[in-house]
Amino acid sequence: MSVEKACRSCRYVSSGAENCPACGSSELTDNWSGFVIIMDPEASDLAKQMVVKMSGKYALKIK
Ligand SMILES: [Zn+2]
Repeated sequence: MSVEKACRSCRYVSSGAENCPACGSSELTDNWSGFVIIMDPEASDLAKQMVVKMSGKYALKIK
């Protein structure tokens, strides 16, 4: 079972990846809580606030 990890720079949540699939950062942490699913970054105000360009799962809080 792989642990889901959040990217420290863009908060994208992935599992089993060495680097963030969204921004390429290797700063991944499993110390995060809460998440939001962004389906359509172009049409989402939340996505714009979070500066999200790729659809997917994003952590709300990273410790
Ligand atoms: Zn990232």
